[in-house]
Amino acid sequence: MNNPLVPAGFEELAVILIQLVYLLAVGMFILGLKRLSSPATAVSGNRMASLAMFVAVIVTLFDREILSFEYIIAGVIVGSLIGAVLAKKVEMTSMPELVAVFNGFGGGASALVATAEYIRVPQTGMDFAGIPVNVLITMSISVFIGSITFTGSLIAFGKLKGILSGNPFVFPGQKILNALLVVLVVVATVMLILDPSNWIIYASIGGISLLIGILIVLPIGGADMPVVIALLNSMSGVAASAAGFVIDNNILIVAGALVGASGLILTMIMCKAMNRTLTHVIFGAFGSEAVGLLGPETAGGKSIREVSPDDLAMMTAYAKRVIIVPGYGLAVAQAQHVVREVADQLEKRNVDVKYGIHPVAGRMPGHMNVLLAEANVPYPQLADMDEINPDFPKTDVVLVIGANDVVNPDARTNPASPIYGMPILNADEARAVVVFKRSLNPGFAGIDNQLFYNENSYMFFGDAKKSLSSLLEALKEID
Ligand code: NDP
Repeated sequence: MNNPLVPAGFEELAVILIQLVYLLAVGMFILGLKRLSSPATAVSGNRMASLAMFVAVIVTLFDREILSFEYIIAGVIVGSLIGAVLAKKVEMTSMPELVAVFNGFGGGASALVATAEYIRVPQTGMDFAGIPVNVLITMSISVFIGSITFTGSLIAFGKLKGILSGNPFVFPGQKILNALLVVLVVVATVMLILDPSNWIIYASIGGISLLIGILIVLPIGGADMPVVIALLNSMSGVAASAAGFVIDNNILIVAGALVGASGLILTMIMCKAMNRTLTHVIFGAFGSEAVGLLGPETAGGKSIREVSPDDLAMMTAYAKRVIIVPGYGLAVAQAQHVVREVADQLEKRNVDVKYGIHPVAGRMPGHMNVLLAEANVPYPQLADMDEINPDFPKTDVVLVIGANDVVNPDARTNPASPIYGMPILNADEARAVVVFKRSLNPGFAGIDNQLFYNENSYMFFGDAKKSLSSLLEALKEID
């Protein structure tokens, strides 16, 4: 260690202290993660993990032979400004796109860290032949996974934002091409080990990996997107961990591994929620093999019934049990506060009100929990899918607010549907279902919903916030 910040004679002590602080930060990361598993402790968990990251960054600045603090300070200021403006300006509905971009930047940054270390070799007076094989392999892994995460996340961002079509993009021989590209990366890594100074080989590992990221995420669409976002998140962690091995930094290795592992657990939870295997998501091209898709334009012949605010106020005010199913449209309409007011009004009349939360409702994991927490909906009123599903047959009215795919009964009953087998909230089993949305348009998966045409279903067309406000007014007028 050749650190101008450490007085002569204290080098060894400084190394031990730095590693001890890293250990403390790791402990705080793990505790923070643990606390994130419940809405009641999530905020403090987030703070604890942020503090751990801050401590880790400060200590790393001491640990390294920092060439220029000016660049680092400038980077911190520019990065913090961009982050603060983005966090202030981003709409709640755009959070998933932001998360997708963050994953991509995380992966890209890890690939750049490994590349910077590669470029630095001649500057440190070291010979390329002196780079150990294991470091060359981790460099390649970091560039490979980081680059895939970068372009894959940008494609996911485009799909979520609607810049790219959410439909799967498939062409003949796609899987074979992807497999060949992965083999090429392995071959290039072997060539790099044999000739480490050949930067063209190094660059081609990055170039091919960037292409793989695009080709792997393009065919994935529709309801499989939550799994992809979670998987890319996990990959950004693995890339960071690999970069940690390249630059021999313990905190990066552990923090990356934590992100990788927790992202993988989330991916598996998402797969379970969709009743899909990971290989099916990655290689199955959602919806491409489906038959019998019904768009709204082919829904002709089936009739729907509408309900007025006054009639709905009567239905709900005299109900015993009401379940609210929130979905992406609730976030778009920013109707979380007014939905709570409606629930409060019903509870005043002794109606038992619960919220049924589907794991993939909205556009990011936990989207509905975050949204309803913002409106101070009490946590005990939120019920997971497995917990609430047995209650639907005993429920008088279900208010489906801006949700669509997560209550589509085709997932249970229509083997030809692309979402067949995905567990849903069984709203259709209640005595009456009222769907709040603006039209008969499909949701994210792009498929028609039989629920709208069921005999016990009513549509309440319009922006969810406006519709709920009119319901609230009507409820207040009932004496
Ligand atoms: P959906 O996307 O299935 O449906 C949302 C519905 O909201 C639309 O049908 C739309 O209908 C309605 N809507 C939009 N704006 C408004 C508004 N202002 N007022 C009232 N209604 C509105 O949402 P779900 O939550 O049911 O399902 C989530 C879907 O997103 C699933 O397919 C899931 O796989 C996918 N997904 C989830 C992610 C996650 O991590 N949770 C990530 C990426 C994708 P209309 O236009 O007629 O108003």
